[in-house]
Amino acid sequence: MSIHSSGAPVMVASDLDRTLIYSVNSMALVGSDHLAPRMVVAEVYDAAPLSFMTRTAEELLEGIVERSIFVPVTTRTRAQFSRVRLPGSGHGYAVTTNGAVLLHDGEPDGDWSRHIQRSLGSECAPLDDVLCHLRGGAAVPAVLRVRTAEEYFVYSIVDRQALPDGYLDELGAWCEARGWMTSLQGRKLYCVPAPITKEAAVDEVRRRSGSGLLVAAGDSRLDAGILELADIAIRPSHGELDSDSFSLPNLTVTSASGVLAGEEILSFVSGVLAETLAPLP
Ligand SMILES: [Mg+2]
Repeated sequence: MSIHSSGAPVMVASDLDRTLIYSVNSMALVGSDHLAPRMVVAEVYDAAPLSFMTRTAEELLEGIVERSIFVPVTTRTRAQFSRVRLPGSGHGYAVTTNGAVLLHDGEPDGDWSRHIQRSLGSECAPLDDVLCHLRGGAAVPAVLRVRTAEEYFVYSIVDRQALPDGYLDELGAWCEARGWMTSLQGRKLYCVPAPITKEAAVDEVRRRSGSGLLVAAGDSRLDAGILELADIAIRPSHGELDSDSFSLPNLTVTSASGVLAGEEILSFVSGVLAETLAPLP
């Protein structure tokens, strides 16, 4: 790991899905097929490739992992995260379950879990209330399946086109009044207790690792906090934050969208590292 000129290592915190890795449906490839970028498989599920990144993106990430404290930050559960294969996988810190779980060398951190449990205490409605709301009297047919993530939060698979007008706003207000927040990403609708955030976990890793400059990337509302926490932030020109026209003074937006935005993000981060790291002796 190289050292920032301030003496502290640089930390790179990045969301995974639709930021670094892409399903076939989210790739948004344009142009002639024979000019498409070469790709590598980043996730296999049920014996079939599910998520990808460009080969160039993977090479860039290898360099970033060598030169920084690279921290994957995902809303995926531990089991979902364990399928993702990236350079450096299984070493160092990783944030899963939207910040409820902090992994260190692949093992969950007990202190962080206890901290999360305490913070849920009185600040937000119990998970069962949200489950009942989504499945009970207020249920709509466009919400196809409702699941819990490690008993921390709820996500639903939805038919976006069939969602009733105003449903998302109403659900958002209902959740907010109970200390929860919502996020719609592709076909997944998340309801997450407000104290469970990616930024709290990223801040904890930053404190423990003594890192200096923080560079962050993400595409959804659940990533807004890490972009705000970062010294330098970047997001793709697609996804929920792009729909919200989310901007910050220190935030760069990619010119590419889809899987090529992932490559552009990693190229940007590599450039930041090259500029800010002192040359190796
Ligand atoms: Mg994402």
